[in-house]
Amino acid sequence: MAARVLNGNVIRDEIYAELAGEISALAAAGIRPGLAAVLVGDNPASKIYVKSKIAACEKLGLASIQVTPPATITTSELLAIIEDLNRRDDVDGILVQLPLPAQVETRKILEAVDPAKDVDGFHPLNVGRLVAGRPTLVPCTPAGVMELLRRSSIPLEGANAVVVGRSDIVGKPMALLLTHANATVTVCHSKTRDLPETVRRAEIVVAAMGRVAMITPDYIRPGATVIDVGINRVTDSSQAEKFFAHFPERLAEFRAKGTALVGDVHPDVAGVAGALTPVPGGVGPLTIAMLMSNTVKAARLRRGSRVPAAAAVRH
Ligand code: NDP
Repeated sequence: MAARVLNGNVIRDEIYAELAGEISALAAAGIRPGLAAVLVGDNPASKIYVKSKIAACEKLGLASIQVTPPATITTSELLAIIEDLNRRDDVDGILVQLPLPAQVETRKILEAVDPAKDVDGFHPLNVGRLVAGRPTLVPCTPAGVMELLRRSSIPLEGANAVVVGRSDIVGKPMALLLTHANATVTVCHSKTRDLPETVRRAEIVVAAMGRVAMITPDYIRPGATVIDVGINRVTDSSQAEKFFAHFPERLAEFRAKGTALVGDVHPDVAGVAGALTPVPGGVGPLTIAMLMSNTVKAARLRRGSRVPAAAAVRH
């Protein structure tokens, strides 16, 4: 039986509808939340990501500005930009699109962002609050996965969850959020012995390795919920033929375009899993939705709590 598809676009629209109420309540109090995106250099993927984040702001009626310094910028020049954004009252959220050029000290930059405007949730103060289970700005991708799981009524309490990947941006905060939701969490990485055996114990699998289609059906316990965070661009037709052997429509689309996005989970997992997020259209839309949610939350907290939070979006 084919797995239930956990459609990220539908859940994103639910979240946007709730945020719209919160944004108009803020507007009534004279507040228009604003996001500043810092895009350094000409990385094409970064440009696309920033463009979709700005488009989401426009769709929701949030203010947005883009700062686009050249790839040759130094750490101290970029620090000056961040300090300026920290001071600006019309900026509630600051996002620094990663990766930064090699000469820039990424850690210094991320630590310079005012924690109250840290809508990516990367500042050590916010990371510490997340570890302690205190309210904070939570990294967008794992926060989006939690929305997806909760809104799809996937039981978390007591569930065995396996997170594959331990990055600061996805894997580690994901494991913390699942732990706070009372799942029993195992974190795997490149040194994990017998990964398939460990993943097979999971009722919930979150794959965030950046390894195209690595999680094959033999890793999956029948009926498990599988969340595919990975985004990998496939251009090799022999790979596409293998991945989409049972998905003629996707293969036809690949042949027409010469490219396709594939997650860290093999498409054939749909035949074993109970529920599965598609790539594209699964976790990706929720990452942006949670960035919007964090920006609204930052505006509300920073400018005083005159306006109550929308009940359904968990902050
Ligand atoms: P990183 O490269 O920072 O981390 C990858 C993690 O996966 C590491 O912990 C690494 O282990 C682990 N890993 C790598 N290879 C294996 C393997 N063969 N077996 C087990 N573990 C392995 O990646 P990110 O966390 O930033 O991103 C992961 C994926 O998610 C990427 O495809 C990225 O594009 C995607 N992504 C998607 C987003 C979305 O909105 N949908 C947002 C952010 C990321 P170790 O620590 O031992 O090196």
